[in-house]
Order: sequence, then structure tokens, then C-alpha cells
Amino acid sequence: MKHYPLLTIDHEAIRHNMQTVIGWCSNAVIDVVGVIKGSTGMASVALDYEECGAKWIASSRLEQLKRAREAGVKAPLMMIRVSMISELEEMAELCEYSLQSSTETLDALEEVLSKKDMTHKVILMADLGDLREGIFDKEELVKVAAHIENDLPHVHLAGIGTNLGCVGSVVPTKEKMEMLTDWAEAVEDSIGRPLEIVSGGATSSLMPVMDNVMPAKVNNLRIGALVLCGPLEDYRTCYGREEADVLSDEAFTLEVEVIESGIKPTHPVGELGVNAFGERAEYVDRGERKRVLLAIGRADYGDIEALVPMLGGAEVTMASGDHTVMDIEDCNADLKVGDKVKFKLKYSAILRLTTSENVYKEER
Ligand SMILES: *Cc1c(COP(=O)(O)O)cnc(C)c1O
Repeated sequence: MKHYPLLTIDHEAIRHNMQTVIGWCSNAVIDVVGVIKGSTGMASVALDYEECGAKWIASSRLEQLKRAREAGVKAPLMMIRVSMISELEEMAELCEYSLQSSTETLDALEEVLSKKDMTHKVILMADLGDLREGIFDKEELVKVAAHIENDLPHVHLAGIGTNLGCVGSVVPTKEKMEMLTDWAEAVEDSIGRPLEIVSGGATSSLMPVMDNVMPAKVNNLRIGALVLCGPLEDYRTCYGREEADVLSDEAFTLEVEVIESGIKPTHPVGELGVNAFGERAEYVDRGERKRVLLAIGRADYGDIEALVPMLGGAEVTMASGDHTVMDIEDCNADLKVGDKVKFKLKYSAILRLTTSENVYKEER
């Protein structure tokens, strides 16, 4: 008997997506870092990326990179969340590359490396306005870069990078990429040698590549979301660019079992307070409608917006930690108890479902 809820991972779709992205980037002479954190760092996904030609495997979590290495990933590993000082020792043992932004951390890294007589490569992050990690001021960035170059013999400054379209929703425009180029040139002037890497951002920085306006100096992008989700997340990551339509949005799909089926009102009956998560929800009264109750909940996938029913006309309407209500009044199909329904998944659902210990996984 198969177990449910069942998350299916289609490696062919993942490889098709990564190959396509690498194709776009190689036309622009850009190397791709394959970011695995969206799948909770599944080692099999890292191996897919590597097979497709991703030159680095990256994650924001050391545990995930460790698993990728143990599963046989040969590509250099890149830690892409700016390091905690408390993890530097483990990070230096495991990863060839990391993104960094603080002098304190870089100095501590030098100390760790010199004790072990090891070297490590860093990409110094520039904050071009998105307000997550990175040095906000150009002169300051040049100063820290020179400090690495001149004072930290075990830390190699491989390049600079930036991250946009994240906490601050800043669009990676041609102008922002030119700004990164300008900052990179200032660093090169200061240290008197070329940088190996100028890393222009994440999935959203594919837009200037699609538009053929990426400055030649940007030679590296760190890509995860679009490869895992395809066009289902292109609105969030690439503002609905039709280039993404050639990608698969079925790399990760979810099958869930129906545990109740019937007709119920669409508006709760009684005095309304808060839902299972303490939220005051809004309910639209659409009268009595056909609906099913599904054996999965927000504990598994996060928010209902991240589940996209593959059954035409179906709509997920509400959920608690372990239950999900789906309206099927407008569907041609009639679902009964024991039937299974399938969903496509947005990024946040993939992230949660790959971690949930109550979700079974099938890879093919
Ligand atoms: C998550 C992350 C990425 C990848 O972002 P996607 O949107 O998944 O492509 C790249 N760089 C950094 C620093 C990240 O944290």
C-alpha cells in the first residue's frame, strides 16, 4: 500500500530546468551556482545540478552541504548565508567558498584557517539597496576587500557579489548590475588584480540575462527557486517572464488523500473568533457547496496559497495544522473518501514538505 501524503520528486524535470537555465547563462558567459536550500538540501537534487553543469553547489545551511558532500558531490561547496562566527570551523572544513560581509567574521575566519593551515575563498557581499546582507557603502567595501587581500593571508578574496529581490524586493535592473560592475572595478583597482567572480544575485537576476543587458563583468549567478518551481514561481522571482514557460512546474508534486467528502456551507456558522493559528480570517458566503477534507495541513506545507490544485476548478479554501478544505463544486470530477488529489507546489510548500517527517517521498 502506498503511503500518503506523497511528495513526488521528478529528477528529469529538475535536470531539464537546470540545463535550460545553464544554457541561458552560458550564452552570457555566466557560471551557475546550484542552490539546494529550497528542497531542504536534498542530496539527489545537488547531484542533478552537478550533472547538468552547475560549477558550485550552494546552501544557506551547513548540514545540507555536508549531506551533499557525503552523497558524492565533487563540485566546490559554497555557503551562501553569511557565516555565524560559531560555525566558522565547520564551514572552513567543509566549504571551499562562502559569502561574507563583516570584518569581525573575516578576522575570525583568518584565525580559524591559520590554526588549521588551510585556505578558503570568499565572495564579499555588496548591499546595493535590498537591505539584507552586504556592505552598503562602496568605499567601505573597497576597504574591507583590501583588508582581506593585504592582512588575511589564509582568506582568498575570490570576488564580490550581491543579493537583490529579497527582503527589500529591489529589482535586479541593468543599473544595479552596472553598479555591481563599478564596485568590482573599484576593488580591482585597489588590490591591483582582477577578481575571479562577480556574482550578480539569485533567480531574479536572470531577468537582465533574458533581456541581454547583463554587463559582461557579471560572470556568476546563484540559482535555486526557478529550477525547483519553474513557471509556477516565475511571477515572484522573474515577474512572470514568458522565457520561464519552457521550464517544468512539476518537478515537485504532492498527492493527498480525501478523508471526508460532501456538501457544507462555505461560511462558518456561529460567533466568529480566531482560527487555529490565532488569525481573524475572512470568509465569503457562497452558500452550500461540494467540498472535500484532505489529510494534510499547514504543519506540512505552510500557507494554502502555496498549494496549486491540478484538478481543474478546485480551490483550497481553508486549513488548520493537519486538515485542508478544498472546494470542488466547480470540478467535473466527484471525489469520494479514499480518493487522491494532486497539487503543484510553490517554493514555500516545497521547502516545508521536503522537511516534514509526515510526508512520504518518492523520487523518480
Ligand atoms: C537563496 C539564495 C540564493 C538563491 O535564490 P533563488 O531565488 O532560490 O534562486 C542565492 N543567493 C543567496 C545569498 C541566497 O540566500
